[in-house]
Amino acid sequence: SKEKGGNAYHYYKPDMNKRSMQRLNLEIHLRKALKRGEFDVYYQPLVDLSNGAVFGMESLVRWRHPEWGLVSPAEFIPLAEETGLIVPIGNWVLKQSCLQNKAWLQMGYSPLIVSVNISAIQFHQQNFVQIVTEALEESGLAPDQLCLEITENIAMNNLPYITETMQRLRALGVRISIDDFGTGYSSLSYLKRFRVHTLKIDQSFIRDITSDEDNAAIVTALIAMSHRLKIKSLAEGVETKEQLDFLITQGCDEIQGYVFSKPMPAPDFELLIKENKHL
Ligand code: C2E
Ligand code: CA
Ligand code: CA
Ligand code: CA
Repeated sequence: SKEKGGNAYHYYKPDMNKRSMQRLNLEIHLRKALKRGEFDVYYQPLVDLSNGAVFGMESLVRWRHPEWGLVSPAEFIPLAEETGLIVPIGNWVLKQSCLQNKAWLQMGYSPLIVSVNISAIQFHQQNFVQIVTEALEESGLAPDQLCLEITENIAMNNLPYITETMQRLRALGVRISIDDFGTGYSSLSYLKRFRVHTLKIDQSFIRDITSDEDNAAIVTALIAMSHRLKIKSLAEGVETKEQLDFLITQGCDEIQGYVFSKPMPAPDFELLIKENKHL
């Protein structure tokens, strides 16, 4: 390395090294995590506001490292996307979610819709539709009991192969929701083009819905728009009774959030459906 020069050089270099070392370390561990069975899927209930019943669950991946403990997806999903590791991880989550949903059906619980996050990297894989088909076939899950959560940035893309993938998924019979709705690109034409099932209104709009008039106006408009387009509206990150009441008043169809339940391991989710917990 170079001679010690100006202060800035001297000051920043060790810090950058430390950060890239941490990143590399994380990547090395992430590569091994699948083989070592360190991933788990948590399930967060999705609630139908027309009857207060749980109609499905979002799959949220968890990484339990033997020494570090639980690592948040916010920390490792971005790295998994940069390194391409999101493809095997995401495929595992998809398969696991289908198997679990089918298992609950076979135990006699009412049919549920399992909603799985699909990264853009995964979606752009040439064999993506094939992967989804296999997950359904190998689990025996009915296609309409699987929902794929994709972001606006995927859906608004006009490339022919994206349109074709969307059409093939539709033909397969799986559901599609638009995740984090309102935070991506603003073109809305894809909503008509792809006839998605659900708009998941991002939690950043819900957070201060009872104090911020602008966000209240946005959410009201999004719910009204989804109704006109015959698309379900789902509010994410609903934490308080006040937020819930506002959403009910506005005619929102579905909610997800701590006001009802946090994401939880499969056995806990099973207890909840066994008890037939309602909002
Ligand atoms: P997301 O898809 O928007 O998932 C919702 C996030 O909001 C989850 O965070 C969930 O635990 C959290 N949440 C739910 N209700 C509330 C609430 O009432 N209040 C607050 N403050 N938060 C709430 P989580 O599980 O940490 O996941 C973070 C993000 O990581 C997800 O955001 C998603 O983008 C990504 N992710 C998680 N699992 C997967 C996966 O299997 N594949 C991919 N590609 N991404 C995933
Ligand atoms: Ca999601
Ligand atoms: Ca979301
Ligand atoms: Ca989000």
